Amino acid sequence: MVGVSALRVDGVTVRFGALVALDAVSFTVEPGTVHAVIGPNGAGKSTCLNVLSGVYRPHAGSVYLGDRELTRLRPHHIARLGIARTFQNIELSGTQTVEDNLLLGRHHLMRAGLVATALGLPSVSREERRHRARVREITDFLGLSAAIDRPAALLPYGLRKRLEVARALALEPRVLLLDEPVAGMDTAETAEMAAAILAVRAELDVTVLLVEHDMGLVTRIADRVTVLDFGRRIFDGSPEAMTSDPDVVAAYLGG
Ligand code: ADP
Ligand code: MG
Repeated sequence: MVGVSALRVDGVTVRFGALVALDAVSFTVEPGTVHAVIGPNGAGKSTCLNVLSGVYRPHAGSVYLGDRELTRLRPHHIARLGIARTFQNIELSGTQTVEDNLLLGRHHLMRAGLVATALGLPSVSREERRHRARVREITDFLGLSAAIDRPAALLPYGLRKRLEVARALALEPRVLLLDEPVAGMDTAETAEMAAAILAVRAELDVTVLLVEHDMGLVTRIADRVTVLDFGRRIFDGSPEAMTSDPDVVAAYLGG
């Protein structure tokens, strides 16, 4: 029952040499919520996503999706269990179209082998049509349909960031990990992304873990917030409680 499982980070520590990037950090992302992890630059937010997606292995602690331990699984295995992510810096295939970027994202969902594809069997084209139809739904959902045949590199910045989210959604995840999805966006682009994130949770029933530097977006769309500072968890609770928490205020004003 991956669909209704909590994502649990339990006592995770990551070190880079003498630097402790995450210091025994714990928090739980409840299914069906938008959960934000925020903190000043260098707080350990991206490191946290890298642990959750299997890019880094923690020195101590564990990560679970429901009862399933993810701690030592490889990134592709974690993706197959239903956890998809975006990166802080855009990582798209720039020369490929929007549609091809999304079809590439669905490769592991395609059953047809190379031989069947090469022979052009009817079952293959049926499957391909099904995938193309789903890709169209995802592009509609994220307001990318008008750009579906354009190379990713030619899209405006805000659309490229949405394409990254679309590509992660093309994996049909239960949990979506977003690393600073509105970084560098103007007010209008930020509002569109915020609406898209809320729609993903409400309409696609995908749990969202959102890493964010800025408090503004978080207080508007997150159900729960974990605040990191220098690798330590300094707050875990509602966005309302966060804004008046003395430790959080000090970390942000002091940083
Ligand atoms: P955030 O995303 O909150 O800005 P990061 O998780 O990227 O912070 O980084 C946390 C700390 O770990 C920072 O001090 C950063 O310089 C350091 N760090 C992150 N990744 C590496 C790495 N691969 N090698 C060495 N230090 C790293
Ligand atoms: Mg980061």
